[in-house]
Amino acid sequence: MKYLWCQVSLDRLEENINNIRNMDDKKIIAVVKGNAYGLGIERITEFLEDKIDYFAVADISEAKRVAGEKEILLLTPLIDIEDIINPMENVIYTIDNEEILEHIPKDFSNKVHIYLDTGMNRMGIKIGRLKYVVEYIQNNFPSMILDGVYTHLHNTKSRKGTLKQINIFKDEVTPFLDRIPNIHCLNSSGFLNEEYKSEADFTNNIRVGNLLYGYEGSDKGFKKVFSYKAKVINKFKVKKGSKIGYGEKYKAKEDILVGILGIGNIEHLGFNKDVKHNIFYDILKVFYHHIRKQYCIFCNDKPIEIIGRPNMNVTMINMKGAGDETIFTIDITPILAESSINKEYTYNDIQASL
Ligand SMILES: *Cc1c(COP(=O)(O)O)cnc(C)c1O
Repeated sequence: MKYLWCQVSLDRLEENINNIRNMDDKKIIAVVKGNAYGLGIERITEFLEDKIDYFAVADISEAKRVAGEKEILLLTPLIDIEDIINPMENVIYTIDNEEILEHIPKDFSNKVHIYLDTGMNRMGIKIGRLKYVVEYIQNNFPSMILDGVYTHLHNTKSRKGTLKQINIFKDEVTPFLDRIPNIHCLNSSGFLNEEYKSEADFTNNIRVGNLLYGYEGSDKGFKKVFSYKAKVINKFKVKKGSKIGYGEKYKAKEDILVGILGIGNIEHLGFNKDVKHNIFYDILKVFYHHIRKQYCIFCNDKPIEIIGRPNMNVTMINMKGAGDETIFTIDITPILAESSINKEYTYNDIQASL
């Protein structure tokens, strides 16, 4: 018997891809880092393989979990030289600094993309140095395939800053457009913005994650592909006037039926915005503005009253309007939720209500 699961609609994922294809003919680099934004990298990549052009991941261990033979762009800096001594055949490595070039074996024959720093100051080849790096690669690595150049738009909320970044990038890559096949800078929010998109018309790939999974773009028809579902594991009657839960904070205004859901703080229900700065912060940041302060449990689109506050593993709800077999929809985000929650993938399933 299952009480808590994450339903992932592959139909919607496909619709989102089709939506992108209808909007533009740039190649799609599907970003599947962070376990495909919490949705399960193995299954998501298996489904996407014949629908997108490349995958992108954050590290080699993720690359190993990608299904199929598709090429995978490794977004992180090349730090671990071990990774390139025995390179994975279908991995495209990112050259993000000049020093690393001295450590790469001269017979290195994988594809690489050069990452340019256009203002984020996180990593990247500095402006004005692309020509040097391209020549260095051509002169020293006869088998290395210079397949792409990219940069990252780190603050798409700032119009001025983003347009500046795109133009810095443009100036830098323009001399190489005939020699380097793949040029990219648009992420989800960049792609959704018409002005940025037209400014970046010299690019021919987009790198998108949020958009694929529907975290962004609802106003342009992109659909959330996941939904958490739960059934009550237990229920009991409580008399009017009784206090319920921690701190005796909740008092029943009438006789009520209390239901217990096996979901709580551990799954980030009741999560507040105090995200601690740890190693996952970088990934979390992408989602930061998607985290809603209000957590919610729904029954047929109607919000359900939470009794007290969600506890570590369980949450009590008022069962008013719900039945024994009611499947509740829980509004949490997969990237924050405990990844051990079972995922149920649906495809061609018109029942998949999200
Ligand atoms: C995560 C990431 C993306 C994808 O960003 P979205 O906002 O999810 O589209 C693109 N490029 C790089 C370098 C990233 O790290």
